[in-house]
Amino acid sequence: MTEETTNIEPQESGRRFYPQPRVCLFCTDRNATIDHKRPEQLRRFVTEDGKIRPRRQTGTCAKHQRELARAIKRARHLALLQFVGDTLD
Ligand SMILES: [Zn+2]
Repeated sequence: MTEETTNIEPQESGRRFYPQPRVCLFCTDRNATIDHKRPEQLRRFVTEDGKIRPRRQTGTCAKHQRELARAIKRARHLALLQFVGDTLD
């Protein structure tokens, strides 16, 4: 009898501060794309509540921040990302 462990993602508890990049990730990393179809990547740029992180936290430049915001909103619309206030149980 095997007990299958359900897919529980290890949740980072507590407040963990990410190292602040001084430069925009998307300007430096060519592999980093802003794509609303890649919620796992966008997730780095939203808070636990699903809000878009401010630039000072992510280091994203204004240009990419705008693209990012757009992609996140689009992803939300497509229900790829959680809406604010969704149950996080
Ligand atoms: Zn940039």
